[in-house]
Amino acid sequence: NVRVRFAPSPTGGLHLGGVRTALFNYLFAKNNNGEFILRIEDTDQTRFVPGAEEYIMECLAWCGLNPDESPNNPGNFGPYRQSERKPSYRKYAEDLVEKGYAYYAFDTAEELEEQRKLQPNFRYAHDNRMSLRNSLSLGKEETDRLLAEGAPHTIRIKMPENEVVSFEDMIRGRVSFETSLVDDKVLLKADGMPTYHLAVVVDDRAMEISHIFRGEEWLPSAPVHILLWDYLGWKDEMPIWAHLPLILKPDGNGKLSKRDGDRLGFPVYAMNWKDPKTGDLTTGFRERGFLPEAFVNMLALLGWNDGTEQEIFGMEELIQKFSVERISKAGAKFDFEKAKWYNQEWIKQAPNSELMPEIKSVLEKHNVDVADFGDNFVETILDLVKERLTYIEDFWEQASFFFQKPETYDVDAVKPKWNDDKTKFFNEVASLFQDQPVWEAPVLEPLFKNKITESGMKMGELMMPFRIMLVGGKFGPDVFKITEVLGKDKVVERIKLAVP
Ligand code: GLU
Repeated sequence: NVRVRFAPSPTGGLHLGGVRTALFNYLFAKNNNGEFILRIEDTDQTRFVPGAEEYIMECLAWCGLNPDESPNNPGNFGPYRQSERKPSYRKYAEDLVEKGYAYYAFDTAEELEEQRKLQPNFRYAHDNRMSLRNSLSLGKEETDRLLAEGAPHTIRIKMPENEVVSFEDMIRGRVSFETSLVDDKVLLKADGMPTYHLAVVVDDRAMEISHIFRGEEWLPSAPVHILLWDYLGWKDEMPIWAHLPLILKPDGNGKLSKRDGDRLGFPVYAMNWKDPKTGDLTTGFRERGFLPEAFVNMLALLGWNDGTEQEIFGMEELIQKFSVERISKAGAKFDFEKAKWYNQEWIKQAPNSELMPEIKSVLEKHNVDVADFGDNFVETILDLVKERLTYIEDFWEQASFFFQKPETYDVDAVKPKWNDDKTKFFNEVASLFQDQPVWEAPVLEPLFKNKITESGMKMGELMMPFRIMLVGGKFGPDVFKITEVLGKDKVVERIKLAVP
């Protein structure tokens, strides 16, 4: 039975790499008829940030990555917040001490700080642990005395010296680590809370997790976790691991960070995040105008493809086609222009019914009363401009002239070398239109063009001014389609307004 988990720490906004981790877990689970679990890793109470957990849940919901088990929707393996599982961890840490795989450490924070000052490269490890204050250096008697006295202590793993720990990663193949290079990580903190390392192993087992997909930044922690699975006697139950490739800066130079987004002007978080301490707001993809389908599609292709040239995938298709073999080992460069392209494609494909609520709210934001125009009118216009939208908000820029007269014209463009002939032409067109009984583009176009031919002027001299009179600028869909949709009265009005 496949069971995977997304295990974020609620410390702030969710980086797109985090959402991709959630997505790959989800796709793997659903592809294998398994379960996708959300576990909140909140054992570091100093990093607790109010609102971050709710944010994560909202984010998953927005992306359509609904957990089968979570704090809000518990299954049989709860609780799903590590802070609520606190009592379950100590016994494992003590069990490790008893077996000789871990030890009590009594060094205070100040003492360790002192050490760090003395040696810039200080680490608590095999080469210096005997000179520090712990049960290995102090001996059993002194340790028992300190424990009986209630002296504050942590429990640390005793990393073996000169051993090689290795495992088979689904993406990277065999990965090996030299244990001497890893320090004696704290497993249980002085406040009785486990650290990430202990909690992640205890919970992955307790929740019967079968496969672990997580970011490559966790690879250095893997030897600690593997030893813990082994030392706790659970080696045969160890999940299968997959470390996902990093998401890189657009130039490929290192990991994409929130600061790159600020610097280059694109979002890195999934949704807006307001830091409760500083009040700083970081823009997210959602608020920037991305459809969740586009965001998910873009993320899926950061480090995965189906082996063809296909780029557009909906969630169902991703679930069917997802395969670990096609996840790349190499980091994936983030390209915001490409992300925008996905959004454009998804807007083009989206049924009007899905876009209408958002389109209406864009109009309302600009004080347009949709009821004055009717839904059918708005939909007609949506069909006309849909393929020009990168974001839903672009609807206003592309289509505001359907709802109100252009506020300004590009005067030089409407009237380059204006002359009386042109005034005459447009006045005549206005009357011609006024008397025109059938108001449809295929009738209006030849009518207008014949009039140009009659006038002896050139197409180019009159077509663009006409567009600008209606639209206010040199953009928009077919001008006769615009003429049709605006209706006779407005077209005649706008021509008269614009002619000097
Ligand atoms: N709590 C870790 C994080 O914030 C989870 C890492 C893991 O999946 O093991 O990403």
